Amino acid sequence: MKVAVFSSKPYDEEHLTSANTETGLELTFLEPQLTAQTVALTKGFDIVCCFVNDVIDTAVAAQLQENGVKLVAMRCAGFNNVDLDACAKHNLPVARVPEYSPNAVAEHAAALILDLNRNIHRAFSRIRENDYSLSGLMGFDLYGKTVAIVGGGRIGQSIIRIMKGFGCRVICFDPMPSEALVETGVELVSLEQVWAESDIISLHCPLVRSTYHIINSNTLSQMKKGVMLINTSRGGLIDTPAIIKALKNGQVGYLGLDVYEEEANLFFENYSNQVLQDDIFARLTTFKNVVITGHQAFFTHEALQAIAEVTLNNILHFDKGELDKMCLVKT
Ligand code: NAD
Repeated sequence: MKVAVFSSKPYDEEHLTSANTETGLELTFLEPQLTAQTVALTKGFDIVCCFVNDVIDTAVAAQLQENGVKLVAMRCAGFNNVDLDACAKHNLPVARVPEYSPNAVAEHAAALILDLNRNIHRAFSRIRENDYSLSGLMGFDLYGKTVAIVGGGRIGQSIIRIMKGFGCRVICFDPMPSEALVETGVELVSLEQVWAESDIISLHCPLVRSTYHIINSNTLSQMKKGVMLINTSRGGLIDTPAIIKALKNGQVGYLGLDVYEEEANLFFENYSNQVLQDDIFARLTTFKNVVITGHQAFFTHEALQAIAEVTLNNILHFDKGELDKMCLVKT
């Protein structure tokens, strides 16, 4: 089986190659994202292996089928850039890695909370400038504060446990709470309660039609003044111009982001020699109470190892016709 690995970075190559010693799969690592412009590269491959910002829309799906590709193997959990109907129409099953290290993402969300609250990013710069003053660095105790988790799945449950460890009151909104979520002992609440009662809100729901811009001017206006918002899920959950307005008037007191709606044109690449063209993103980077990381919440050794193993297993099961053993995305 010939596999074209798109959006490939040295760390992908390292982990996939070391997991591929005895499989007989032929992996070709390609740096470009999979898009309508690059889909021609898939000619002669049986499988495409894709990451979060690769785009498989109607045109790409049709071209993949024409080029003989038989499977889309996502090496991530999310698949919001994959048109599942188009893939089904072009006979392209879509596999994914539903869980690699929920703890990695939850721990990163917790890191953003602690960094923002205690102004670690500002202290880091001050110390390097020989400035040991404390003005502007005051934080607040997490103990006793109300933390809301929107989306109590695998990652949500992990951060619920972490924040309970700090002695927080942890509440959660999930329209389909699982048994595992209930077992965490979290207080299940309505979205209205999330907005009204929380000191910190952390988003862990998928990006679907009902969650698109779930953080908007209307929901922001229902929150406590000075609320801390954390998004390690998907950029499209937040209406960025609305949050910039809320940061300017103090309605939002802290913002921690690992994802951004227009990240496909920015994240995972080094543009340090170029002028930043995205004015909305540029404005976000000017706030002292905003910390942004470039979609790195998943990025731990353990997670990359798990991603490589599950991705290759999906492909090997597909090769043997064992579709029931694959982590397939249901259409
Ligand atoms: P999951 O499928 O285990 O959990 C998602 C939960 O969201 C489910 O419990 C579901 O019932 C709930 N949900 C569905 N619709 C909702 C709604 N309208 N409002 C609130 N909750 C809703 O997923 P997970 O593994 O916990 O991952 C959550 C998200 O994290 C993924 O969708 C992905 O976008 C994101 N993610 C980000 C990174 C990163 O590196 N930043 C890595 C992995 C996943």
